[in-house]
Amino acid sequence: MKPSTLRIGYRYRPKRLAAGYDAIVIGSGMGGLTTAALLSELGWRVCVLEQHYTAGGYTHSYERNGYEWDVGVHYIGDVGAPTRTRKMFDFLSAGALQWAPMDAEYDRFYVGDKTFNAIAGKQNFRDNLVRQFPEEEAAIDRYMVLLGQISGGLSAHAMDKVLKPWQQKIVAPFMRFRKPRHLYRNTYKVLSELTENQDLIATLCGQWGDMGLPPKQSSFMVHAMIARHYLYGGFYPVGGSWKIADSIIPMIQKSGGEVFTYARVAEIIISDSKVAGVEMADGHIIECDRVISSAGVANTFRDLLPEETVCEFGYQQDLARVGPSFAHLGVYIGLQQSAEELGLPKTNFWIYPGNDYDAAVEEFVANPGAEFPVVYISFPSAKDPDYENRHPGTATIEIVAPAPYEWFESWEDSTWGKRGEEYEKLKASLGERLMEHLYRRLPQLRGKVDYYEVSTPQSTNWFSGYQRGELYGLEHTTERLHQDWLGPRTRIPGLWLTGQDTLTCGVTGAMMAGMLTTMAMVGMRKMGPLMKKIYGGEP
Ligand SMILES: Cc1cc2nc3c(=O)[nH]c(=O)nc-3n(C[C@H](O)[C@H](O)[C@H](O)COP(=O)(O)OP(=O)(O)OC[C@H]3O[C@@H](n4cnc5c(N)ncnc54)[C@H](O)[C@@H]3O)c2cc1C
Repeated sequence: MKPSTLRIGYRYRPKRLAAGYDAIVIGSGMGGLTTAALLSELGWRVCVLEQHYTAGGYTHSYERNGYEWDVGVHYIGDVGAPTRTRKMFDFLSAGALQWAPMDAEYDRFYVGDKTFNAIAGKQNFRDNLVRQFPEEEAAIDRYMVLLGQISGGLSAHAMDKVLKPWQQKIVAPFMRFRKPRHLYRNTYKVLSELTENQDLIATLCGQWGDMGLPPKQSSFMVHAMIARHYLYGGFYPVGGSWKIADSIIPMIQKSGGEVFTYARVAEIIISDSKVAGVEMADGHIIECDRVISSAGVANTFRDLLPEETVCEFGYQQDLARVGPSFAHLGVYIGLQQSAEELGLPKTNFWIYPGNDYDAAVEEFVANPGAEFPVVYISFPSAKDPDYENRHPGTATIEIVAPAPYEWFESWEDSTWGKRGEEYEKLKASLGERLMEHLYRRLPQLRGKVDYYEVSTPQSTNWFSGYQRGELYGLEHTTERLHQDWLGPRTRIPGLWLTGQDTLTCGVTGAMMAGMLTTMAMVGMRKMGPLMKKIYGGEP
């Protein structure tokens, strides 16, 4: 297989580095790019170091055989109106990033032999649920109230992360008041207090794949955050998800910064118990007393920091309280007809064997032959109004499904494209099973598929720099949300964190984490005017 030629960012060479960066960012995902761009807007010269051959982290795209696919962006919510999310995207991209709405039915849930769906618009969403579950109207209305209450709690949870420990203590009583009782509770427990109808609970949790944990394991806060995020529908970045990074990089360059690719950081250098720079995989050292890691908590603390530093600052106990999110498979499909000709929808399909999502996951983990507990199908070329201009007469489809990392662990140290027959056989059989799900839902596609390839958790490790093929970095349990060390500040002077592990997963979650990290680094006096620029009059 030929590597993709769709690449953005500037290839790293030591001689291309400028002198005297104000900050180094490890990783060019949404968290890293947002932090770098906002600091650049404040006049900092920031060096972003990305190990992959293209920038963007999970927002990167790749092309092969005349097709183009996204790896970690299928839909973004909250960008159809001048919301805070939209304003931040507009600011970072200087208005260059455009959004295309999906169908009003943005998510469809196949639950066993029943079909439910989610419809865009708060009132439409509610009315559509009532249409599907007329006897549950009161429960649905109570659910909508709960979603509304969570909003203030989410902001309080996020703001907590910006504050210094002594500030947190002072504001704790006020914050407690802003955090509703349900914020840190388990999703299933909260929902089962509203209704006993398991199909309704399954429909409300139909997007559990967006955070990677089924309802009996997940936190209601993250559930509600995702449900609210898509309440007004799903949107797709026009031109493909790589446009996100492509449109943010100029802001970093404007202040003399750069986003380097092929730039793997081997170690964060610690001298006198504080950050002194980074050592690159080629041995080159970049000195800097501010390093922001957006490479994820597992990479940062298990790989990039010297072990004695991790122990010195007491992170070993912290690390024991968090674990990786589920690993995943991807199927990337190309067809020689346009999305319109093939009748592909701008609706995501979520396919479940039945309404007990937790039981299905348990069974799948215990028995590799069991049904996939969730199969997600997305139609990116249908969602992107520009796809036809770039790749006329073709269409793409993407499938995502979970897969325990252990199935692929033995290929840990192997090279992409050279993993041998056994690996290819396993991939092929999993790919065929997933393709059958597609054909079952869209039988007109049988015989029309020109090309498809399967990615595994080892592909995720190889390209996206993860350790266990994680879909979403750390898993989103309620326990994780109580970890107040997961935030922008670390106990190691000069080291900051950002990205999905510091707040929540999702492109918007990582972007907001980037804003919080900037805020924590520069303080409110400098951040205030910048926030005004981004949000206008809004605080
Ligand atoms: C299959 C899939 C589908 C998804 N779908 C959606 C969706 O539809 N909508 C949505 O909002 N979210 C979606 N997400 C989640 C979303 O993409 C992520 O939560 C978000 O992009 C994470 O951003 P980040 O900056 O925290 O991390 P990442 O984007 O993972 O960035 C981390 C970067 O650090 C780099 N790195 C790691 N180690 C090093 C090192 N040593 N040196 C240099 N660089 C290093 C990595 O290469 C990577 O580029 C999806 C994710 C996946 C996997």
